[in-house]
Amino acid sequence: MTPGASPGGRGTMPGGCVFCKIAAGEIPATIVKRGDGVLAFKDLNPQAPTHLLVIPTHHVATLNETKDAGLLGKLLGFARDLARESGIAERGYRVVVNTNPDGGQTVFHLHLHVLGGRPMTWPPG
Ligand code: 5GP
Ligand code: ZN
Repeated sequence: MTPGASPGGRGTMPGGCVFCKIAAGEIPATIVKRGDGVLAFKDLNPQAPTHLLVIPTHHVATLNETKDAGLLGKLLGFARDLARESGIAERGYRVVVNTNPDGGQTVFHLHLHVLGGRPMTWPPG
């Protein structure tokens, strides 16, 4: 199992974390927006016509480990700006933070999903 991509790896091995590697430019991704300590790129396996991920560029494993309310505000504002710039804001979109296994988190580097371009259903699966 890839370190940093499993519950056992969270917070322990940022050097093996796929999103840290994307932030460092060590593995490719389609970067759509850069900010101060924040980065957005296209999801590899999109679940909607627009499916972007917003991450802090430093390693934070999950929302549970995030003590910095300023960072959380920055990430959410970045996601909001991204939605506007991607042309999905007006019709609507969804911002999702899957947290730990029951939340569906598979990559243990904090990230916001920004999904849009189609109507979303509720409740989520
Ligand atoms: P989670 O399930 O942790 O909330 O979401 C992880 C997301 O990261 C998934 O939607 C998955 O498709 C995406 N993902 C996993 N590995 C990579 C990668 O190497 N590059 C990109 N662009 N997305 C990835
Ligand atoms: Zn990381």
